[in-house]
This record gives sequence, C-alpha cells and structure tokens, in this order.
Amino acid sequence: MIGGGLAGLSSAVVLAEAGFRVSLVEKLPHLGGRATSYLLPNGEYVDNCQHVTMRCCTNLEDFYRRVGAADKIRYYQRVLFLDRLGRRGVLKRSPLPAPFHLAPSFLRFPFLDWRDKRGIGDAMLRIARTGGRSPAQKTSEIGQTMLDWLRKNGQTAVAIDRVWRVVLVSALDEELDRADAAYGRAVFWKAFLKNRRGYEVGIPTVPLGELYDGCREPIERRGGAVRTRAALRSLRVHDGRVAAAVLDDGSELAADYFLAAVPHTALLQLLGPETVANHPVFVNLKNLRTSPITGVHFWLDRAITSEPFIALLDRTTQWIFNKTLLSNRPEIKGQAQEPGQYLQLVISASYDLVERSRQEIMDLCWRELCEVLPAAREAKLLKSTVIKEVAATFSPAPGCDRWRPDAGAARPVLSNLILAGDWTNTGWPSTMEGAVRSGYRAAEALLAAEGQPQPLVLPDLPAQGFARRWESPGR
Ligand SMILES: Cc1cc2nc3c(=O)[nH]c(=O)nc-3n(C[C@H](O)[C@H](O)[C@H](O)COP(=O)(O)OP(=O)(O)OC[C@H]3O[C@@H](n4cnc5c(N)ncnc54)[C@H](O)[C@@H]3O)c2cc1C
Repeated sequence: MIGGGLAGLSSAVVLAEAGFRVSLVEKLPHLGGRATSYLLPNGEYVDNCQHVTMRCCTNLEDFYRRVGAADKIRYYQRVLFLDRLGRRGVLKRSPLPAPFHLAPSFLRFPFLDWRDKRGIGDAMLRIARTGGRSPAQKTSEIGQTMLDWLRKNGQTAVAIDRVWRVVLVSALDEELDRADAAYGRAVFWKAFLKNRRGYEVGIPTVPLGELYDGCREPIERRGGAVRTRAALRSLRVHDGRVAAAVLDDGSELAADYFLAAVPHTALLQLLGPETVANHPVFVNLKNLRTSPITGVHFWLDRAITSEPFIALLDRTTQWIFNKTLLSNRPEIKGQAQEPGQYLQLVISASYDLVERSRQEIMDLCWRELCEVLPAAREAKLLKSTVIKEVAATFSPAPGCDRWRPDAGAARPVLSNLILAGDWTNTGWPSTMEGAVRSGYRAAEALLAAEGQPQPLVLPDLPAQGFARRWESPGR
C-alpha cells in the first residue's frame, strides 16, 4: 500500500480484516494525508485545515467505526448563516418528510426575497424529481457547468450567491462556473433532499491525526506493517507488472499487489514518463486540474462567539470554525491562554488568494471577522497563521469523470497495480468520503482478482418520504 491518506488507510484496514498481510508506506511522519494535523513545537495541535463531514458520507462513517474513531465525530443539526448586515438564517430540520424537511427553515431566511425562494424551491424540486441525476442524460446537459444549469433553471443572482454558491463552493472546492452541474445537483440531492439526516454536519472533536490511531492494530495483527517517513521513489516495472517499489533510500519492496493511494500527480511521477506516455489511463490523468483552499488560524485573548461554526455570505471568508468549542482537547482549546479563543477561517476555491501575501490574507480575514463579530474589535490577536493549499483537491470540472479511472483500470497495463485516491472514479467530488470509497473499491478490486469477491462500499443513506418515489435505481 503506497500512501497513508484516507484512501490508503481505509483500503489497508479492510484488506487486513479480510486476512491479507498489508505493508503500508507513507512518506510523511504522520498518517492521514491531506486530512491530518501537526504537532507544533509548543505542544499544540493544528489541523492542516478544518475538515467537515456530513451524515450522507456513509463510507467515511463506516471507516471511523472500524478504527474506533466514530465517537470522536460530533454531529450538528443546526447550521447558521450570517449575511453582511448581520442577518441570521438557521438551517434545521422540521418534522416534514424528505425532501421538504429543511423547507420551513429555508423559507425563513431573511436575506432572500420571495422570488429567490420560489426559484430555489422549484430548482430543488427538479433535482429531487430526478433523484439528483442529470434530468435525462441529455447531450446538451453533459459537461454543463453548475452556473449554466442554475441560470437555465431561473435562479436569481441573489439566490445563486447566497444559497447555491455558499453550499457548493465548500462542498466541491470549485466555483460554480468551473464545476460540473452533475456534481452540484448530487450534493443537494444527497445532503439536503434525499434523507432527513443527510445535512447534519460532522466535526472531529480531536486533532485530525488522532482519528487514525486505530488503523495500525488491525494491520499489524495480520502480520502487516505501517511505515511512516518511508517515501517511494519509483515503481519498477517489468514484463507488464510492478516488480518492486523502490524507496528513497534505494531499498526495494516486493509484493503480490501494489495499491497506489497517492495523489494522481504523485502516481505519474512514480511510474515515470515512459510508462505514462504509452497508456491513456495514465496520460488522461494530466487532464485533471486542481483547486486551492486557504485556511486562516486566529488565536484571540478572549471569546468572541459562542457559535460552534458560522457560514458567511457576501464575504471572502466562507466559514468560521470555533475550534475552542468544537474540541474536547485542551491543547486545541488553547487552555494555556484561557479564556481565549482559537478560530479557524476557511476559504475554498481560493484562487484570488493564491498570489496574495500571507499578511494581506490575514488582514482581509481579520477585517471581515471584526465586521461580522463586533466583539473581535475589542479582542487582542495573540497569534495567527495562514495555510495555503494550492492543490488541495482535484477540480470537479465539467466532464472530468472521463479522466477518473476505476480501481482496476491500470491492470490491463500493469496486472498487479490497483489504484485508489479521491481522484479515482468514485462519482464523488474530492472529499474524505470519496477517498474512503476509493479505498474500499480498490480493496474490492483486489479481492475480486484473488477470486474472493466481496462488496465493501456501502450505499448512500436511503431515500425517505416523498424522495423515495424519485430515487433512481443504483443511486
Ligand atoms: C485544505 C483542505 C481542506 C479540505 N477540507 C475537506 C473537508 O472539509 N471535507 C472533506 O470531506 N474533504 C476535505 N478535503 C479533501 C480531503 O482532505 C481529501 O479528499 C482526502 O483526504 C484525500 O485522501 P487521499 O487518501 O485520496 O489522498 P491524500 O490525503 O493526499 O493521501 C495520499 C498520501 O500519499 C502520500 N504519498 C504521496 N507520495 C508518496 C510517495 N512517493 N511515497 C509514499 N507516500 C506518498 C502522501 O503523503 C499522503 O499521505 C480538504 C482538503 C484540503 C487540502
């Protein structure tokens, strides 16, 4: 197993549980890949970036259960939106059946007028009626951007900015004019329409890296091993197979199967230009683009909000996470500075910030924070940092599914190479759920190759209420 992110870990754990001896190599000192945390020299933990899951992420939840981390995720049933004028909208479930369970709270949003709301309601119904799929696989709709779809479906500029963009830019890490409409519709169907619990927001109560503590035991129990600080330099290819994995120190690892769970750009480097150039499955990966996420961390001398998290409208900052409140752990709460507060601000698809200096980004976000939470104006900023992830996720660009290979797509070329990673063909955008699905699919491919087929990927949450009528088979 190459790569100790969620794809590699989830695959390694289920394969170990199926009786395989798995040797996992990870180049970094810690597990978790992009969804991880670092220990600072002063003993404080900092997440690479706030990571959020939702109840509709069934496979991620299953993985957390397998490794004993499920009780380290707290789910919230209330999402607060705040606009520039300080008006608050709260999304929460009503007793109505799906797909109408969120409609009453949405109808009370003060920053939308009746025309906006009617248009959104119509579009939601259209998505629900087609079970989240493209309304007919019409050729004209293939490769359509989400923005085109919204305009075609009568959405006002306000509705686009204050509802669709707020949800989708975070969920897809992409702007509406660069995201495939099929991904956008699927987010609303799975998270907000299909099942009454799909929208619940799950947030870890511990540093991200701690969620993976339980991964080693099932692997080691079957005689396998997890090695960190073990970077692979290349895959040595011979006679239509991977003959060995060559580590940075020149040593080689042999195995019956090699499961590559590294980002697609890293896979191309490991294979080398000759192998890549000769095979479309690898060449096509060059068409997958990436998009950035920026995280801004502020440590304050006092508490300025009692909300666990807030979604902001009409701002560069998209989310504020109150790490002090969300965490069970003193080193995250920043107890040394009690009664201080540690906030993390997140900006997805942050193309405009990539070229800006860290100081400029910090100033911009601090200004916005003082505007939306006036108590910040009295607070002293004790410490701050900016983490820019320029290639945070792959971009769900229109038609990108063409380039995303199945777990077994490399086997006709290299018979013992299996692919995993959020960028493989899971149908999901670049998310922790997508990564775990890819890991389970890779394990399914390996088990099938060994003549022991076994389904591992769990289905989505079931459709409920009226949404049951509209669910299409296989989704
Ligand atoms: C800033 C940021 C915020 C995000 N927020 C969210 C969120 O809120 N919710 C959500 O669901 N998703 C979020 N994501 C996306 C999520 O983190 C990823 O989709 C997921 O973690 C990808 O997992 P993976 O295993 O496919 O890849 P990775 O996590 O990238 O794992 C690949 C692993 O391979 C290792 N590796 C690479 N090359 C080598 C080599 N040569 N030898 C050995 N090891 C190697 C890497 O070090 C890494 O550990 C976010 C991502 C970022 C960057």
